[in-house]
Amino acid sequence: MGRSVLVTGGNRGIGLAIARDLAAQGHQVAVTHRGSGAPEGLFGVQADVTDLEQVDAAFAQVEAHQGPVEVLVSNAGLTDDTLLMRMSEDQFERVLNANLTGAFRVAKRASRGMLRGKWGRFVFISSVVGLSGSAGQANYAASKAGLVGFARSLARELGSRNITANVVAPGFVHTDMTDTLPEDRKKEILGAVPAGRYAEPGEIAAAVRYLASDEAGYVNGAVLPVDGGLGLGH
Ligand code: NDP
Repeated sequence: MGRSVLVTGGNRGIGLAIARDLAAQGHQVAVTHRGSGAPEGLFGVQADVTDLEQVDAAFAQVEAHQGPVEVLVSNAGLTDDTLLMRMSEDQFERVLNANLTGAFRVAKRASRGMLRGKWGRFVFISSVVGLSGSAGQANYAASKAGLVGFARSLARELGSRNITANVVAPGFVHTDMTDTLPEDRKKEILGAVPAGRYAEPGEIAAAVRYLASDEAGYVNGAVLPVDGGLGLGH
């Protein structure tokens, strides 16, 4: 059965791969963008997840187009890396605001419809570094770790209503976010990944596809690493 899906940051990178994958499964898929427009074949709504009014307006548009959101993939995220000694409070809060509070804004808005419909799937895109930590990414790693506690709280609050909240923790994936890393850092990363390569965005999408499915109804509060073995149990 096709579900009403919203993927935040689904205009490019991992989010776009997730959106295309879910659309190929027969779901009705909407994506948020911040002005780039909708990718071909997908329904796009403009929203910055740091702005509650924009989030609310985007949900209203999605609801009018395809009904209440039944599957929310909270994927929008950014980095602003520097060592702790140099990190300003503003840099810390900006990343937390987008990656963690942004997830709260969209999840809270989506929960209404899920509760009414007595079915829902939350999938939060975290990161291996949320669990392992990462030098130069205290803000980003904290935001990604926060998603785990957040999702598990939703699992406890909403688990009796046929609503699940799970986390996917990717390792390093070929996208704009990782393309900008310095070459020596890329080499260092590849040396630490048992798979010896980066992931392709479609490999993250495959994990999301499962967690969003009917069959995953008994999987709740899980953190699924898709990291080529980089985290190994963290
Ligand atoms: P990209 O930089 O390629 O894309 C980021 C997406 O998030 C874009 O769609 C961007 O929109 C959107 N976005 C950023 N900030 C906001 C905001 N405030 N409001 C709405 N949308 C926003 O990143 P990836 O595809 O690589 O990353 C996607 C997710 O996966 C992120 O949460 C990231 O942290 C996570 N991740 C990525 C890994 C990697 O190796 N690439 C590894 C582990 C996790 P816009 O186009 O408007 O900028």
